[in-house]
Amino acid sequence: MTSWDNWLEGERARREAEALERRLKATELPAEPIAFRNGKRLVNLSSNNYLGLAGHPKLIEAAARGAAAGAGAGSSRLVAGNDLATAALEEKIAAFKGAEAALVVGSGYLANVGAIAALCSRDTAIFLDRLDHASIVDGARLSGAELNRYRHRDLDQLEGLLAKSGAARKLIVTDTVFSMDGDTAPLSELVELKDRHGALLLADDAHGGGVFGPRGEGYAHELGLADRIDLTVGTFSKAFGVYGAYISAGRALIDHLVSTCRTLIYSTALPPAVIAAIDTSLDLVAEAGDRRRDLRAKSEHFRARLAELGFDTGDSTTQIVPALVGSSERALELAQALEERGVLAIAIRPPTVPAGSERIRFSLMATHEDADLELALEALAGVA
Ligand code: PMP
Repeated sequence: MTSWDNWLEGERARREAEALERRLKATELPAEPIAFRNGKRLVNLSSNNYLGLAGHPKLIEAAARGAAAGAGAGSSRLVAGNDLATAALEEKIAAFKGAEAALVVGSGYLANVGAIAALCSRDTAIFLDRLDHASIVDGARLSGAELNRYRHRDLDQLEGLLAKSGAARKLIVTDTVFSMDGDTAPLSELVELKDRHGALLLADDAHGGGVFGPRGEGYAHELGLADRIDLTVGTFSKAFGVYGAYISAGRALIDHLVSTCRTLIYSTALPPAVIAAIDTSLDLVAEAGDRRRDLRAKSEHFRARLAELGFDTGDSTTQIVPALVGSSERALELAQALEERGVLAIAIRPPTVPAGSERIRFSLMATHEDADLELALEALAGVA
């Protein structure tokens, strides 16, 4: 065996021993309320297709229309790949967000990594909530900036860290809706804090976009704080039902990113089918008030029933509902038992969540049938 073979085997054995091995499982219709594995029907509580738009006929039609222009964009947007449709889409996103400007990038992961690394360097201090998404942490690390992480939603600790830092520029980054906990950031307090300390605030609205705000503009709109957030990262891969992402901000920030965001500059533009589908999804989301209401009602019902069964749902108040179980073994066992009873729900383990907070993460969709949610709750009662 080579040194690489030895290392791979050792790593695998360690992951197996700690119940941290991950496996790709082939799934039919993974974005839909009912999915199938090995032909078995499963109530899908693992998709981020919150509004159920991914399979919407108008989105599929838009993607097909877009694909008529070619399957691939051919180059980075700064080379020749900035087609008319992408340029027009950015205007539309900026108007939707009520922002001066918007920049479309490949994915939410690429948006966070690219934007944070383009704004921060050694003379910058970054302040992250401990539960911020991995792409935020990766961008912060890549930037080489001083990295401060505060306890989840602990504004006192954040304030202390901001006061202590002597950095020339300061950036606070927070998820709006925390992806594994389904609780929300204290945005109005964060806005006050960042103003007091002359910091910028970047809000990652991956799980708030489409779901919150009168027209799905996002969580900051829900709170009436949109004009106080310096930069928003949003993804089109979740409630919008497509793929790709945007950064919205003032013109000066967006101009800076066009010249410096390496995940924009050195990566091929999104293909025409995706751009066309995003464009249509913005219209569908804006008009999806009924779906937002259904999603909220189903989430509240599911969370209340889960609590009645004795599960710890943490501080969840949104369409993301965890059931905290406390160990990777227990989380895997529970996910397996649920799958046997016809429910697709995923065990979330370190490093995605801190050790000791292992969980099953349930995500609701506006298009879940009440009868199917009832089946899922019966299965949960069976394993509780
Ligand atoms: N931010 C958060 C909070 C997320 O949960 C995710 C997706 N898991 C991303 C960013 C990345 O978005 P995308 O899937 O579009 O890369």
